[in-house]
Parts: sequence; structure tokens; C-alpha cells
Amino acid sequence: MRLQYGRVEPIHLISLTKVTSMFENGARESMHALPRVIQPILTWITGKPLEATEPRLVLSNSLDVFITLVSSIGFFAALIWLASQNILAVLPLIVLSWFVLVGLLRKMQVTHLHHAIHNRLFGSPRLNKLYARVLPSLIFVQNSVEYRKEHLEHHNAHIFTTERDADAAFLAKLGFIPGRERGELWMNLWMTIASPVFHIVFARARLKSVFLRNTRGETVLAIGVALAHVALIVIAGWKAYAVAVFVPMFILYHVSALLQFLTEHAWNVAGGAVDDWNDYRNRCWGRFCGEKYPSCESNSNSHLVHFFRVCRWTTRMLFLHLPVRVACLVADLPAHDWHHLAHFGGQNSRDWTRSLYLRQLVISDGDKPGFARRELWSMRNMIEHQFLWLQSITCTYSASTAGGLSQQEKAALVSGE
Ligand SMILES: [Zn+2]
Ligand SMILES: [Zn+2]
Repeated sequence: MRLQYGRVEPIHLISLTKVTSMFENGARESMHALPRVIQPILTWITGKPLEATEPRLVLSNSLDVFITLVSSIGFFAALIWLASQNILAVLPLIVLSWFVLVGLLRKMQVTHLHHAIHNRLFGSPRLNKLYARVLPSLIFVQNSVEYRKEHLEHHNAHIFTTERDADAAFLAKLGFIPGRERGELWMNLWMTIASPVFHIVFARARLKSVFLRNTRGETVLAIGVALAHVALIVIAGWKAYAVAVFVPMFILYHVSALLQFLTEHAWNVAGGAVDDWNDYRNRCWGRFCGEKYPSCESNSNSHLVHFFRVCRWTTRMLFLHLPVRVACLVADLPAHDWHHLAHFGGQNSRDWTRSLYLRQLVISDGDKPGFARRELWSMRNMIEHQFLWLQSITCTYSASTAGGLSQQEKAALVSGE
């Protein structure tokens, strides 16, 4: 089905107020009450430091790439072993490994490959090119030529977040369309995640880009990796393959990618290009994993109430927000707005390895890009924000059949960024 978008009506003021009210301040600052020693851990989980000068672990990009690759292999191996055990007894370990592994795979694509195609993963352009050519064949994601073209278009102000932006067009094709009610959009999200069609189309698009539209060397490498998959099935069996490869590398990978790009920007396939830089800034935001730490009140029973609130907060941080950080909003993704807007704060997006801290530095230095005004906390709020935004846009549609996804939409599906 091909959708055509009609005239966009002015946004309803009430809906727009609801949209902007999802932005939240003070969540990270509320954690100031917790011991200093755990602040770096909270910075890692949330994606937002309390202060720009906070101590941080510094790894070279080469070491980070190496550790990510080696640990992925380690988790694949661990999952193969776990699959040979009594599945029910080791299920918690399998689920834990799935979350970490999908996060590592996503990090390779959405962080390392992303910055390689921006020519800023390694100091050497040759190495960047090599990484960008090799990685898609290893984990079966969109080949580097297609990904580079699509992603640089995403950065283009004339295309950014509009129907010509491959990510926006693909989300619209999945039913995340301006004008739909938020309840419908939530239902659509659950149905998409559970839909075998979504997973088959996503996997097919990835495999076609790697095997059918790739250069010869990269295709041969991908065939080698595919033979390793076959060898794994022959040696360890279907169960091991499903647990170690199929679920994390395809099913969970697709869900993680969908949630990532669903919440990334103010998509609007019914709208036009940005009017000015202010409009461009308003289509970006920071995404953080966590929620406000409960404050201590001074009335009777307050200690007990506070204790239970802290227990609830800790549980939610560990079982709700941490998994999102580990498996979906990996590495520098919380500060994706900084990736687009660093120059407004007098910084250079080439310094992406310090993006979380540099973003905080811009905020403490007067916050010219307005980062602190556009911060979303928790995946539920990020999704709700996007759905309220889409609901706030009034437009008319006409539908005609055009047979499947366009080339541009397929590319977004494969890149999954
Ligand atoms: Zn980029
Ligand atoms: Zn972006």
C-alpha cells in the first residue's frame, strides 16, 4: 500500500501541550542524594552525567571495537552452551545473555558502523572504510554504501524527519502515521513486535542488502559467515542455533532497532523540511534511562514510606531502565540530539566518544541548543511522546496499492538505525 499525505492542518494546541509536557527536568539531579561512589554507575545506566567533569572510563575506539567483537563471540559461545543445558533451569541466564548480546550487536551497527560511515570511528579513513565494509557481512546488516547514502540524507536539513527520510517513511509504512490516535499507535506497536511478517520483512531486507546488493569481497565474506551458521546447526542443532543466533541476531535485534528509531526524532511524513535551525533543534531530543529518585518527606511514617519508594525505584531502575540501556539505547544513543546539534554549543560532533559529557558541558555553559529543555526519561515516555506528537498532527490520507516497500523504505528497514 502506498500512502499519499494531504494538507497538514495546524497542530491542536491541547495535544501539543501534552507533547511538550513529556519533557522532564531534574531526574538525574534527584539522584544527587545517592552516594558519590555510585554516581558513575548511574551515569552509565541513565546516559546522563550529573556533572560534565565527572570521572569516566576512557577506552580507545580500537579497544572498544575489539572488546565489543570479542564479547559478542563470548556471548554467542555462552548461549550455545546454555542451550545444551536444561533450558528452564538456565532461562534467566539465557535472557540476560540475549539482552547483552543484542546490545553489543546494536552497538556495532548504530555506534561503530554509524561513526565509521561518518569517517570518525578510527583516525584512518582507510580503517573506517574497511570496518564499514566488513561489519555488515559479519552481522548481516545493510551494506555500507546503502547505509552511508541513507544516513547522510537523514542529516540533510531538506530531508531530515520528512517522508524523504528513509526512517520516517519506513515507520509510516509500519502504521506509525501522523493523525492516528495514541491508543491505536500503542496497539500498532504491540502488533508489529508480535508480527512474523515484520520480522520476515526486516530479515529479508537485511539479507538482500548483504548478499544481493553487495560488492564481491563482502558477499564472499557474508557467504563464509552463512556457512558458519549452517555448521552450527549441523554440529549443535536447531535448538542451539535458535537460542544463540536466531533470537538475539534477528528477533530481538528487530525489536531493539524498532524502538530505537521510533523514539529518535519528531518524525512527520506529512510535514515539510525544517523552516530554520530552531525547527531543526525541535525535532531532536535526549533520551535517558531512569526516573526521579524519591525525595524524603519530613512527616510521620516518612522513613518507612521513603524506604518502600526507594525499593520501588531501585527495582524499576534494574529491571525496567537498565535493560533498555543495555539492549536498545546503547553507547552514545542517549545523546543523539548532540550528534545533530553539537555545533550549536561550539563543539564538534567528531568528539562523539565524549558526547554524553560534552552535552552536559553545553548545558552548564548556558545551553544555547536548549538540550535541557528537551529530555525524555524512560522508554515508555519516549514512545508516548512520539505517539502524542503523531496524534497532534492533523492530515488527510489517500491510499493506493503499489506493491510492497519502496527502495528507500527497505533501506531504512535494513539499517535499523
Ligand atoms: Zn549520523
Ligand atoms: Zn538522527
